[in-house]
Amino acid sequence: MKSGTVHQVDCPTCQAVVVWTDSNKYRPFCSERCKLVDLGDWATDKRIIAGEPIYPDVGEDSESAL
Ligand SMILES: [Zn+2]
Repeated sequence: MKSGTVHQVDCPTCQAVVVWTDSNKYRPFCSERCKLVDLGDWATDKRIIAGEPIYPDVGEDSESAL
């Protein structure tokens, strides 16, 4: 019985088996939750990579105070 190949992927977040279908709008994730978790991780990584932490200019202030 051949009814076409079912494309299955692993959810990047929780590694659950996800059937890749048009009805699954969260693919390759298994759920909206996993999608949001992954996007959140990416956003965090991007922020760290894109811009280094900005340290307050306390040094400059204390220098002029000295
Ligand atoms: Zn998942």
